[in-house]
Amino acid sequence: MLEVRGLHHVYGRGKDAVTALERIDITVAAHELVCVVGPSGAGKSTLLRAVSGLLNPTAGSVTLAGRPVVGSPPPGLAMVFQDYARSLFPWSRIGSNVAFPLAGIARQERRHRVETALQAVGLPDVTRRYPWELSGGMQQRVAIARALVTNPLLLLMDEPFASVDAHTRADLEDLLLRIKDEHGTTTLVVTHDIDEAVYLADRVIVLSGSPANVLADLTVDLPSSRDQVLTRSLPRFVSMRAQVAQLIRTRHSPPHVPSRGASPSHERRET
Ligand code: ADP
Repeated sequence: MLEVRGLHHVYGRGKDAVTALERIDITVAAHELVCVVGPSGAGKSTLLRAVSGLLNPTAGSVTLAGRPVVGSPPPGLAMVFQDYARSLFPWSRIGSNVAFPLAGIARQERRHRVETALQAVGLPDVTRRYPWELSGGMQQRVAIARALVTNPLLLLMDEPFASVDAHTRADLEDLLLRIKDEHGTTTLVVTHDIDEAVYLADRVIVLSGSPANVLADLTVDLPSSRDQVLTRSLPRFVSMRAQVAQLIRTRHSPPHVPSRGASPSHERRET
């Protein structure tokens, strides 16, 4: 569904050049949930901006369902951000917020799709409420409903549960797994949280520190039915978490400080 090939991005020029991404290759198959995990400053946001078409990379390509992603978010792509408070319109009721991407669709159909999306996130009765009347976790559920309402080809999530408390976070993680089971939504989640990545994913892609390159692409061979307590106590979960942590720890270099005459690094990628 998603193919990222040789994605390379350098911010600035000459002595101010910062290589954020270094020849990244990533694929996500239909119905897969893939987590990209890496330390802060690794280049995760740059990667997401390039995948969503919001940033023109220095080199490389992104294709979604066989179509090149260039210049703007392609049809079929939906995004959920960390900051739910800034992604919903406070002056619009929840129903209107969720209906926002459905401009041009007949009213009856629009209402049906909004209700279905809100039901999918466990909030069937909030269409007449305003965002500020809901808890943070509920607002993030609304943001997810708004992403799902278009039946996206790819759901991109940027640290989606980083702004809520631990209990709500676990609920939202399980919601995402349920959505994946019931709707088969193809999902790419970017997170710095190793536990979350291993708990959620079919595959975990580990990024090195800046500049980001792919250190490992690991298949999560845990039972597909996940449970917050049982799964996290399985020896395989513990060993995968340790493996990812070790990869990041040994390969994370401090954020890049440009020096005179700095140019894009061409160090060989190790996977
Ligand atoms: P992450 O999301 O993993 O924290 P980013 O993609 O935000 O990482 O940043 C990766 C690197 O690129 C960092 O070294 C950061 O300082 C640099 N960077 C990000 N955005 C810009 C920009 N607009 N101009 C220059 N450097 C940038």
